[in-house]
Amino acid sequence: MRLQIFEYQCEPSGHTFRVPELPVDAYGEFLLRSETGAEMVYVNAIADPTYKEVDVLLQRHPSLTGVPANRRADILRRIYGTVACDPDSEGRPFHIGRHPQCPVCSSPNMKSWQEVQPVEFVDLDIPASTHLLWAALTEDQKADRVNGALS
Ligand SMILES: [Zn+2]
Repeated sequence: MRLQIFEYQCEPSGHTFRVPELPVDAYGEFLLRSETGAEMVYVNAIADPTYKEVDVLLQRHPSLTGVPANRRADILRRIYGTVACDPDSEGRPFHIGRHPQCPVCSSPNMKSWQEVQPVEFVDLDIPASTHLLWAALTEDQKADRVNGALS
């Protein structure tokens, strides 16, 4: 898939490094990183039914009654990787919007990130997220998993 090169600067020491991200005009697509940032998976939230499924569970959730749709969408992005995506090879969850780690000091905290200018693209094979664990759950177990992620 076509990714765009971004330049990051880490917060602790100002190290700069370049990483591929979804192009700025990508819509309804997410790149998920694991906690170490070493692994990435891809989700097309429009085509992948699990994204809608978690959203429906949030809509029905008693603690989110009356919460505006944009706030619920934020919550969905925050919990989706943990709730519905199979973990990385070390059993750690993937997260939407997680920054890569600094390759020098391993910090996950970034001061800034922006597309490099002039724009640069790279073609990389990123595996689609799998949902084997999620698919094996009953409806009640899915609701429990969402509860757990919200608390
Ligand atoms: Zn650093």
